[in-house]
Amino acid sequence: LKKYVTGFVEETDMEVVTNDNVRLEVPLGSKGVLVKNLYLSCDPYMRGLMSKLNEPTYIETFEPGSVIRGFGVSRVLESEHPDFKAWEYVWGITGWEEYSLITDTQRLFKVPFTDVPLSYFTGLLGMPGFTAYVGFYEICSPKKGEYVFISAASGAVGQLVGQFAKLMGCYVVGTAGSDEKVELLKTKFGFDDAFNYKKEKSLGAALKRCFPEGIDIYFENVGGAMLDAALLNMRDNGRISACGMISQYNLEKLEGVHYLVRVITKRLLMKGFNIADHFHLYPKFLEMIMPHIMKGEITYLEDRAEGIENAPAALIGLFKGTNVGKQLVVLADE
Ligand code: NDP
Repeated sequence: LKKYVTGFVEETDMEVVTNDNVRLEVPLGSKGVLVKNLYLSCDPYMRGLMSKLNEPTYIETFEPGSVIRGFGVSRVLESEHPDFKAWEYVWGITGWEEYSLITDTQRLFKVPFTDVPLSYFTGLLGMPGFTAYVGFYEICSPKKGEYVFISAASGAVGQLVGQFAKLMGCYVVGTAGSDEKVELLKTKFGFDDAFNYKKEKSLGAALKRCFPEGIDIYFENVGGAMLDAALLNMRDNGRISACGMISQYNLEKLEGVHYLVRVITKRLLMKGFNIADHFHLYPKFLEMIMPHIMKGEITYLEDRAEGIENAPAALIGLFKGTNVGKQLVVLADE
């Protein structure tokens, strides 16, 4: 990170630096590991760590002049940690660099199997896929036949929420920001219907058209006007899983929400969650999803950028909607 970011994040807020004089050695007895990074995950929450915050958070922001951190998949080269051995694959928090010395291994996990693409641990089997699982099953209490609406539906989290909802026997509609993404939702991911929110005069009217009887579950990825439109169309006792509000992440002054009173009049349950609090459920997630993957019942679309020099553009693309599916960066061959 070159400097703290205000407003919309740009490529020039980051720089790629070559440093030939770094000795990467794992200190003896340190429980650290030296890894070669293979895949980096681009995630919207990273924008929040690029600004100087006025209030304390549970997670440290990036410091200007320091390496950006994020989820990735790596190969262990040296280890002083009893749980990780040289040549094993790991996924979790690493640096946005070709090689990383990781001393805080709290968020580093062994890749449990290698009969699926390794890159899945940035998406389908990594943090975003797990977020879809927790946000849908644990927060929404879904039931067969319910009406489900998903925003940012073709992305890393949304594409999977839609497929989970279909597996459950729900009626599923998604929204996305291009006709290509809308087509993918309907043809590749099996959504019942989808619309391009950029082409609608009124989001509220679009939801009324798609859900004449109203929405039981709204999986919220976007916030702002989309949340207002969903609130206006919720059914009695509906649930809103507040997963993310990407439309707000680059704003210096946040947008207001006008129809919050609907939470009362429609007896809604709206719950925010942070996936970091739920990692104890990860084995349960794997147990649920692996049979579906093995039977070919889950599709997962990745958008791959190549090389660390293209990582900044890939990251900011999330906020412009240029990613089609899970955005990741390929750094090296497995
Ligand atoms: P995506 O792969 O969906 O990428 C982001 C997408 O958001 C873009 O492709 C774009 O799609 C859409 N978008 C960007 N800006 C706007 C905007 N102003 N208005 C409407 N849509 C916009 O990201 P993820 O699936 O990784 O993340 C989805 C959400 O889940 C994010 O809000 C993220 O912060 C949240 N999240 C929350 C977690 C938690 O613990 N609570 C954990 C992980 C993710 P389009 O072309 O459709 O506009």
